Amino acid sequence: MVALHKDDVVRRMSEVLKAGGKMLSQTCPVCGNPLFEIKGEMRCVVCDKPVVVIRDQVESGKALLPIVLTSLEGVVVEKIDELTGRLAGTVDLDEIEETARAIDSLLTVLKKSEEIRIATKQTE
Ligand SMILES: [Zn+2]
Repeated sequence: MVALHKDDVVRRMSEVLKAGGKMLSQTCPVCGNPLFEIKGEMRCVVCDKPVVVIRDQVESGKALLPIVLTSLEGVVVEKIDELTGRLAGTVDLDEIEETARAIDSLLTVLKKSEEIRIATKQTE
């Protein structure tokens, strides 16, 4: 990437604005300058290339995922514990069946959570 002189940056930005471009609140992930919407495309006038912000959002979502999974697993384990207590305390067949089904669903959530963890680790 060729470093631009500050005056050139300002000039380019005003050119884009004059041409009907719109300055956005998002900034370029590469150089930190404000992004512009030009003909429906998001561009950085400094890097002089289109910027796909969606990719950025996916990445921040990815960073958040392990935290979300950990809290989900915590809740699921708590529920399984509660239901295990309930299962131990009942002889009612319907309640046993219902509780077992709920535990089964929770275990499926745990298993999937683990699978997602492994799958996302592999792509890193
Ligand atoms: Zn840039």
